[in-house]
Amino acid sequence: MPSKKIHKILVANRGEIAVRIISTLKKLGINSVAIYADNDADSLHCRVADEARPLGGGTLKDTYLNIQKIIDSALDAGADAIHPGYGFLSENAEFAEACRANNLIFIGPDAASMRLMGDKIRARQFAIENDIPVVWGMVGSLEEIEAHAAALPYPVLIKASAGGGGKGMHIVENASQLHLSLEQASREAEKYFGNGQIFIEQYIRNPRHIEVQVLADHHGNVIHLYERECSVQRRYQKVIEESPSPTLTEERRNAICETAVAICKSMNYRNAGTVEFILDENQNFYFLEMNTRIQVEHPVTEQRTGIDIVEEQIRIARGKVMGYTQDSITANGHAIECRIYAEDPENNFMPAPGDVTLYHQPKMRGVRIDSSIDRPTTISDSYDPMISKLICHGKTRESAIEITKNALKNYIVQTRKTNIPYLQSIIDNEDFLNNRIDTSYCEKHQEELIESMHQMRDDVKKEDVVALFLFYDFNKLYLENNNIDNVWEEIGYWRYNMNIDVVVSGQQTTDDRQQTLCHVQIDRINRKSLHCIINEQPYEVLLSQNGGGINKVIINGMMESVFVSETNDNNYCVHFKGLDFICRRNDELNYAKDYSNIDVKNNDMTYYSPMPGKVIKVNVKEGDEVKEGDVLCVVEAMKMENNIKAMTSAKVAKVLVNEGDKVDVKTILIELVL
Ligand code: ADP
Repeated sequence: MPSKKIHKILVANRGEIAVRIISTLKKLGINSVAIYADNDADSLHCRVADEARPLGGGTLKDTYLNIQKIIDSALDAGADAIHPGYGFLSENAEFAEACRANNLIFIGPDAASMRLMGDKIRARQFAIENDIPVVWGMVGSLEEIEAHAAALPYPVLIKASAGGGGKGMHIVENASQLHLSLEQASREAEKYFGNGQIFIEQYIRNPRHIEVQVLADHHGNVIHLYERECSVQRRYQKVIEESPSPTLTEERRNAICETAVAICKSMNYRNAGTVEFILDENQNFYFLEMNTRIQVEHPVTEQRTGIDIVEEQIRIARGKVMGYTQDSITANGHAIECRIYAEDPENNFMPAPGDVTLYHQPKMRGVRIDSSIDRPTTISDSYDPMISKLICHGKTRESAIEITKNALKNYIVQTRKTNIPYLQSIIDNEDFLNNRIDTSYCEKHQEELIESMHQMRDDVKKEDVVALFLFYDFNKLYLENNNIDNVWEEIGYWRYNMNIDVVVSGQQTTDDRQQTLCHVQIDRINRKSLHCIINEQPYEVLLSQNGGGINKVIINGMMESVFVSETNDNNYCVHFKGLDFICRRNDELNYAKDYSNIDVKNNDMTYYSPMPGKVIKVNVKEGDEVKEGDVLCVVEAMKMENNIKAMTSAKVAKVLVNEGDKVDVKTILIELVL
């Protein structure tokens, strides 16, 4: 196959992966074309690309999933190739065909491989035919599966044949749950993947998720870049990935990597891919699926092997021989990736889109950040709420963990909610440290992890936070802009002997009682120092260095960095000791501030919508008796069905919504009475 030239590539994606792909294109001297939906015009991926093409507004089908618009953009821009990234159209065989039909190189495998592996049932069948181990499973219509209800090897897992991203999977513990779960899974499958076909698999208890990165060129070379372990998952979605797997024995490592290569060879796979397995407690592995694209967690492999996977993808797509042979691959040290999400770990990991008021990445040895943002912006509710990925590489697992811990502490993303404190809890957790993990680690440790988040917050002295906040609040014009000299004229007489009340709460709390009131008596304040008494303790804050958004201050003799930003509701977010706190002034200067930042928590009797979304099912009517755990209604939000369950046995007093209603966060759905 003669090698083709590529001068310009359109990246058919957004967010961090588009940014990451473009960085390789820059390195290779290839021109990049970004695409963007209206609400993304200002995004980082557009700013870093050589040119950006608009897709207009509307739904995803009108923008990032619109094959015709994307092909037209590529042709119009004079691109030679398209890189699909992950998600969106990356595993869409029609898209790959449309690219080829228009003489555009699709940077990925051929449509046939995508079709085979995109259909979990076919992929399973293919694996069986090629002597690749799979778990027990059953394929059939809902009725056929139900006919065997009594004989199934419970627990079983219902999966969507066209599924992905952990969506649409349901564990069924016994025959009595089968009917409802099958219905729900099939409905979700139809809606999200356009194909209601489902199947069941035996649910392996306490498994680990191990996957192998593969590369294959058009010259018959197939290699692996070793494995990644991705057992830390919430809702079947990976949160932390690492390489090497701390679990596999050397013998099993070789076996699983060779099996992955064997699958690729038997299907004539080309380009980069990932073969996923689950590993049971006896180190038996079973093929799950193959992702025929670059994966979110590919950087852990890149950090260990020094191979730029995107560069290899392009080289392979050009028809060249891969730059590596199996023998030339060495994997060094240990790498860990944390996915940083705008989400609320205390509220079932609900996405928490919103404004980022301050953004600062740690710059440290061994730390790589693949981010979708580089400055304050809005995390849109139209897309996945992943903000970035933090990848830390050390000599050993212990050192990689240590680097991760430090980096998380110094990674500042001030917004409504992020999972950073949750990741900090995991990275500090005994079971994680000792590799006592399986795919239900997050679920099993949920209470403990949340408790440790609270503990971290409680350990920080709130008076310190208040001292930092006030120093910033009084000096912000100066701190943010060195040229302003007349701050003190603006603040006037307030600067001496005033009394202020500040309420501090942890940002990661959904419990409004977790607030500390601090009484402050300001003694002296000017642009270089603050002397005050906070809850009867004397404070001296001295400015040590300011500029570039980071201000160093000496607070009662200790040097600290100050990161403060004003939130949308006129409160302040203060980053201190690796955590964010919300401060609100209660004195007369700020009498107009309304602290209405109350999170939605359903209680026993009143059930709120946890997110803006749509009511897709109402299972009860007024007067019905319900039992604890009964599903009252289902709210669909961000591609997820949220079952609103009764927390107690009671009677339905009011049903305030109908199926099809659009609801907002805090909309009351249903009220119960005893
Ligand atoms: P998706 O394509 O939606 O990501 P996968 O088949 O890759 O779905 O599975 C995602 C996750 O679900 C796995 O990492 C694993 O944690 C869990 N899982 C999948 N199949 C099984 C099974 N048979 N038993 C136990 N856990 C499973």
